Amino acid sequence: MATSRSAHRQLPYLSSPSSSRLMADNWDPRKALDVTPDAAGFTCVGFAPSKGRRCHNPIAAHNRDAACALLDIIAELSLAAENLNSLFARLAPLVLCRRNHQGQATSMVSEWQRKVVALKRRNERASVSTIRTEVAPLYPAPTEARSVTYRSSLSQAVSPFLRRVEAPQ
Ligand SMILES: [Zn+2]
Repeated sequence: MATSRSAHRQLPYLSSPSSSRLMADNWDPRKALDVTPDAAGFTCVGFAPSKGRRCHNPIAAHNRDAACALLDIIAELSLAAENLNSLFARLAPLVLCRRNHQGQATSMVSEWQRKVVALKRRNERASVSTIRTEVAPLYPAPTEARSVTYRSSLSQAVSPFLRRVEAPQ
């Protein structure tokens, strides 16, 4: 009985959909990876060195559909998710043309991994600057600046008193 009670206690933290949503980074892999198989005119994401540009070969509709389903799954994951790379490895052959670019799958996965690392760094920097912005106003102004403000705003009313305090006879 003790075992089942402790398993039950852990369950909400391990498998509740709301906690996994909280852990997600709320990112858009289509935009981040520049892979948009649901966009009109989507073509192979491979690079055509002979033409010096991205490949223009079409991708079969069923592969585009499968790629969209994978991207929807990826979008729900955290940028640090362990299974991200295996999903990338499944995605790459789907968005590369059969004719020329299946051989670029591995390098495409590496490129996506680099983009994820860069995105993670950007997010970390953004959260640090948010914290700074929130905390900054709580720091007291330097004592000197505050006393200058104090004196200038009150100088009319209390200048005789201040003069007396600063330069006692
Ligand atoms: Zn291609």
